[in-house]
Amino acid sequence: MAISFQNVTYRYPGSEVGVFGIDLEIEDGELLVVIGPSGSGKTTLLKLLAGFLEAQSGRILVDGESVSGLPPHRRNLGIVFQAYALFQHMTAVQNVAYPLKVRGVPRAARLEQARRALARVGLDGLGGRLPANLSGGQQQRVALARALVFSPRALLLDEPLSALDAFRRAEMRDEIARVQRDAGIATLHVTHDLEEAMSIGDRVAVMHGGRLLQVAAPQTLYDMPVDRRVGAFVGKANLWEATVSAPGWIASPVGALACDTTGFAPGSSVTAMVRPERILPLADPAEAKADGVVLAGAVSLDRFAGPIRRFDMGVGQSVVHGETAGYRGPIAAVQIPSEAIRLLPPETVDA
Ligand code: ADP
Repeated sequence: MAISFQNVTYRYPGSEVGVFGIDLEIEDGELLVVIGPSGSGKTTLLKLLAGFLEAQSGRILVDGESVSGLPPHRRNLGIVFQAYALFQHMTAVQNVAYPLKVRGVPRAARLEQARRALARVGLDGLGGRLPANLSGGQQQRVALARALVFSPRALLLDEPLSALDAFRRAEMRDEIARVQRDAGIATLHVTHDLEEAMSIGDRVAVMHGGRLLQVAAPQTLYDMPVDRRVGAFVGKANLWEATVSAPGWIASPVGALACDTTGFAPGSSVTAMVRPERILPLADPAEAKADGVVLAGAVSLDRFAGPIRRFDMGVGQSVVHGETAGYRGPIAAVQIPSEAIRLLPPETVDA
């Protein structure tokens, strides 16, 4: 395992906040993205690995060796920060060569390696420019090349795209994923941008209140969140507090629904989650297409938004939020396929 957090706890002195009981492993070549609301502990986790903070308990291993007590520069980790943190008086190639200079690599060799690193991030020919003469995206590429040039044991990315505009962000996001794959290096990437996390992470770790709620592949997080907080955090969802009425059935605010109740005894309280794109709109309740309950109701909102049409339908004491990509007709009912319903433990008071 390239990186391993073992029951790591860090509490900021004089406060009740920090990160608690973190168990997390990153494999060789894996891109692991840490996501969570502001203040959930993402940056603290990264600082603990980088060596800017020391855990009060637990261990952090890099390639099987504890890094406890090692200062940041002895951990051999490449780090890219939010603000590019380039040396303004040095050219791009001098910036990238700097970590090699510190490591005593002779001048000609380090400039050659720096030029190759710049080419790998698509900056061929721009090595002679000062940071002030490069765009934000280009400066972040220089920072990425500088973080990788000395073949570090792992790469740490701290909100590397937050200073870029939306277009550059999407472009740079794909570029980071490509460069990371080429380098085959274990990477911890911290962001608050859900789309960024879900689109490039091999796995995504969701933090909340200093704790890890779930670590899983993006699709698993989306389809099988461990609880309501994760379900709501990683995408839009219908979330209904319900009761298992009989095996294969729940009583919910939108009515009785058929679904897989495995693991929940009759009488159990549950949260039923259905992603809006799984709700099937019907012009006529008799038109049921899949296996699952049909609910008739009145449409209270119907918005055509280009590729997606969003609608709300009042049913029972609640509302069904739906999204459809292709359906243009009238909506008089919806069908909720049984396999689209995911039962989660009931809502708990936030930690
Ligand atoms: P995130 O990166 O997810 O936004 P952080 O790891 O920065 O969260 O912060 C986690 C918690 O620790 C927050 O409640 C934050 O206010 C607190 N915190 C961060 N840095 C310090 C500090 N230097 N001293 C005290 N509390 C801090």
